[in-house]
Amino acid sequence: MDYEIKRLEELELQRQNEGIELIASENYPSVSVREAQGSIFTAKYAEGYPGRRYYGGCVVVDELENLAIERCKKLFNVAFANVQPHSGSQANFAAYRALLQPNGKVLSLTLNDGGHLTHGSGVSFSANTYNFCFYPLGEDAHLDYNIIREKLFEEKPDLLLAGYSAYPYAIDFKRMRELVDEYNKATGSNCRFMVDMAHIAGQVAAGKCQNPCDYADVVTSTTHKTLRGPRGGLILTNDPELAKKINSAVFPYSQGGPLEHVIAAKATVFAEDDTPEFKAYFDRVLENTKACNDELARLGCMVSGTENHLFLLNVLGSFGVNGLEAQTRLEEVGITTNKNMLHGDTLSPKYTSGIRVGFAAATSRGCTKQDAEEIAHIIYETLSNPNVDVEAMKARSKKIASKWTDISKLEY
Ligand SMILES: *Cc1c(COP(=O)(O)O)cnc(C)c1O
Repeated sequence: MDYEIKRLEELELQRQNEGIELIASENYPSVSVREAQGSIFTAKYAEGYPGRRYYGGCVVVDELENLAIERCKKLFNVAFANVQPHSGSQANFAAYRALLQPNGKVLSLTLNDGGHLTHGSGVSFSANTYNFCFYPLGEDAHLDYNIIREKLFEEKPDLLLAGYSAYPYAIDFKRMRELVDEYNKATGSNCRFMVDMAHIAGQVAAGKCQNPCDYADVVTSTTHKTLRGPRGGLILTNDPELAKKINSAVFPYSQGGPLEHVIAAKATVFAEDDTPEFKAYFDRVLENTKACNDELARLGCMVSGTENHLFLLNVLGSFGVNGLEAQTRLEEVGITTNKNMLHGDTLSPKYTSGIRVGFAAATSRGCTKQDAEEIAHIIYETLSNPNVDVEAMKARSKKIASKWTDISKLEY
């Protein structure tokens, strides 16, 4: 045993157990998922795909990866799945490669309105390889499909991109498909539609929103957010031609040997997510998120409302503090969130006017509706009172977290 590493692992476990994790992109995998990820599959090189590997000795990993693919296809009701991307960003890298020529034009959400770095930020490969243009949210911070329609005709993109990192409302993928079809028909173009469901994949798996696989040409995702799997990515499509392009864009174009131990953990979570228990879990996620949002609203705060696992709290408008300060103060009382830009934000991304609050992780540990409401009060009292008793607030958070399941023992 490496005692130095063990010591850090124990410190991190303690940190996670004692705190209230409200970062919307985090979650806790089950013991089974973590055991699969720690398995001997890590020792196997398997460049290529099942039945078409560059190395010998792949009989067992072929069976493993095929199992992961089959479970993934069943979970999302889709014809093709590539389970090899090492992360959500890697999945997007490969999906763009399969869908676009270099300099191809992508229409995506304005980054400050909730897009991801790989959706056209100058600091990511995306904006350097492709030509991004953007659609803003409507005035009420909801998607405005008329704006998207106008932008399609105006910008003439090769790809429309949906799926976001900080959007608290339902997305009408069906409507977007219709807009792309209308545009293609009117102009004789071949614009494609891609959905990055990294944040809402769990909600899709639980059948609690539209399934983007029914409408998009390509769907990408992470596996570690609402799905509760290992850190990783995946790519889905119903189009056999695109499936071939996606496979070669993942390997050999952008990755080498697949992480078969992570694929084992993905296979494990795809089965866990395909159960009535997971659907019930997701109902609780939605209920808790709404309970915290509504309690804050009742206390007079400016909240976004929610139709998924997250909401946005306007801390500048509610308390006169910026997002960075709110994030720091909440961390001091044992609640982890992150600063987030709001639609029409007047502050820079370094400060922001809001924070993003999510309940997927807390709910995995057993957070109840009452807990979510009590958390709203702790947030309110901490941010509304600059002289709040930090230790007393911290004790209240700790008391809630101490009722929840130890993260190292989470069963499904
Ligand atoms: C989290 C996220 C990603 C990237 O995932 P990584 O695994 O961190 O690379 C991509 N797209 C969206 C919308 C995300 O929220």
